[in-house]
Amino acid sequence: MINKKIKSKNSFFWIYAVIFAIFLGIFFFKSSFSTPKKIDQDTFFDILSKGEVQKILVKHKETVLVYLKKDAFLEGSNTYRDFSNENERKFFTTYPLQYEFEIGDLQFFQKKFEEYKNKYNIVATIDFKNQQEYTITKFFFDYGVFFILLIFFWIFIFRRIGATGGGAGGQIFNIGKSKAKLFDENDDVKITFKDVAGLDGAKEEVQEIVDFLKSPQKYTKLGGKIPKGALLIGPPGTGKTLLAKAVAGEAKVPFFSLSGSDFVEMFVGVGASRVRDLFEKAKEKSPCIIFIDEIDAIGRARGKSSIAGSNDERENTLNQLLTEMDGFGTNTNVIVLAATNRSDILDQALLRPGRFDRTIIVDTPELNERKEIFCVHLKRLVLSNNVDIDFLARQTPGFSGADIANVCNESALIAARKNRSEIISQDFLDAIDRIIGGLEKKNKIIKPNEKKRIAYHEAGHATISWLLEHAAPLVKVTIVPRGRTLGSAWYLPEERQLTTPEQMKDEICTLLAGRSAEEIIFSSISTGALNDLERVTKQAQSMVVIFGLNDKIGNISYYDSTGQNEFSFSKPYSEKTAQIIDEEISKIITEQYQRAKKILKNNEKKLSMLANQLLEKEVLFREDLKKIFGERPYPDEIGDMLSTVNSNP
Ligand code: ADP
Repeated sequence: MINKKIKSKNSFFWIYAVIFAIFLGIFFFKSSFSTPKKIDQDTFFDILSKGEVQKILVKHKETVLVYLKKDAFLEGSNTYRDFSNENERKFFTTYPLQYEFEIGDLQFFQKKFEEYKNKYNIVATIDFKNQQEYTITKFFFDYGVFFILLIFFWIFIFRRIGATGGGAGGQIFNIGKSKAKLFDENDDVKITFKDVAGLDGAKEEVQEIVDFLKSPQKYTKLGGKIPKGALLIGPPGTGKTLLAKAVAGEAKVPFFSLSGSDFVEMFVGVGASRVRDLFEKAKEKSPCIIFIDEIDAIGRARGKSSIAGSNDERENTLNQLLTEMDGFGTNTNVIVLAATNRSDILDQALLRPGRFDRTIIVDTPELNERKEIFCVHLKRLVLSNNVDIDFLARQTPGFSGADIANVCNESALIAARKNRSEIISQDFLDAIDRIIGGLEKKNKIIKPNEKKRIAYHEAGHATISWLLEHAAPLVKVTIVPRGRTLGSAWYLPEERQLTTPEQMKDEICTLLAGRSAEEIIFSSISTGALNDLERVTKQAQSMVVIFGLNDKIGNISYYDSTGQNEFSFSKPYSEKTAQIIDEEISKIITEQYQRAKKILKNNEKKLSMLANQLLEKEVLFREDLKKIFGERPYPDEIGDMLSTVNSNP
């Protein structure tokens, strides 16, 4: 099929090339033979005196065309034209225009011409032509070739645009057509609910959509209406597209897939026209599913942040989408699924019943769900016996389904790079490290005194996290640069639904421990704490202005989940409150910094031991910390599990 296409494209190319070559050939042939030979005035009068001129034509009072008598070319005549061969000579005898020259003053020339005529008794005539006169052939040869070249160029450009423009038909004329990709029974990609791990709640909800599509009568019989759309909301990579594809696969109906940005084009009106086209196509294929990924590209709330009508085009597209969703009846059996991770900025009109009737939350997977996702993706890998899925799932909090798929793939690549015949547990850990922290940069040049500072900084984090009750359990601490960091302490945060102020404060204290350690040991601080400080500031801010966890501010939250309040340009609190907020944020951070310093001072010896070991070994695990600090003072389930796996050889 593809070969055929390429072949037909090639033959078109050759046809064009041959036609082009023919025209080019004619053009050069004609121009080399039909152009009169340039001569000067003296030569002309010489020819004239020999009686070989039939007539002359004066064009625009400045150019003279000379037509010779036919017998001027016969053998023995004194012609001035040198013929390279017999053919050329014949050509000239057939076309009587032979010479051309310029004159300065017409009157003077005319006078001289008459003198010569009288003197040599010549019958040659003189004509004048002041207007541009064109015969069709002349016009064609002067301009036709140019036009033909232009047409070829035009065709070439349009074919190029067509080829790169993509979309249905791939032509510029199809710009208003929808770019949706259709998956139907002819496609091999068959995804079912079995391929979607976890997401039990979401699956249950979309199961119903499958049911609507399979047997709509069951619901309409009782007077119910089939929902027109469902909105899948969740962070990127959590399996929204996968879920939508599974719905189509289970219901065995065609599936139109496109992204919100596919509606957007630089031309006005194209978006709306694409929406119309999409729905027309969908109705033809009904029952079917339309899946619009990243719908926030067009579904953003209207009328907000529209600076001088800059969003008109997007609004038109959204209006058209709303109209279409309203327009098709409940019996058309076209269900629109849309996905976004920014439901807060969506236009309320999209969310009202009758458009996207259902909202399905697709969240990052929890421990058990991660285990299931690992199971799905590990199926096609060659694993060693020591790979523990439960352990992998615990090591990957906050990972989305796509991240997990990536870990599995990356671990296979790492194992292959190390020429292993199967993938072992360590390959997965390396893959996770790589995905979280970026590529290891062992060769980065770091000065010894900088390295020492980094070691103390990281040892500070590790020490505090070991000694505080609510700090996240430490996995390892390293001074090997990775990605954009020079060293890092790796934690495995507890997966909790609620957080208390004590937990938040302990986390802030751990984050500030790096800088505190630097201050204690070197009596100076450095820029190495940038990332820590950024996180600390955000955490403290959220305690005061979002979660209402500050005594002075009280139970007030300035958070706006709709993102549509009028305060976007002005703060929703007074200057006085702003000052208190600033003071309170600063107070939390200072308190925790002093706390970290105090704890580290009390454990300065152990801190130094840890830093020195770190300088020596570069990576330390929980077991190494246990040797220095003894058992952790608080019960620590996850930490204990980590100890059994991670340790220095
Ligand atoms: P989204 O549309 O939410 O951004 P996708 O559906 O495109 O995410 O997911 C990307 C990839 O991640 C999928 O192709 C799949 O390999 C993997 N993935 C995500 N979630 C899951 C899941 N629940 N089960 C299995 N694989 C998943």
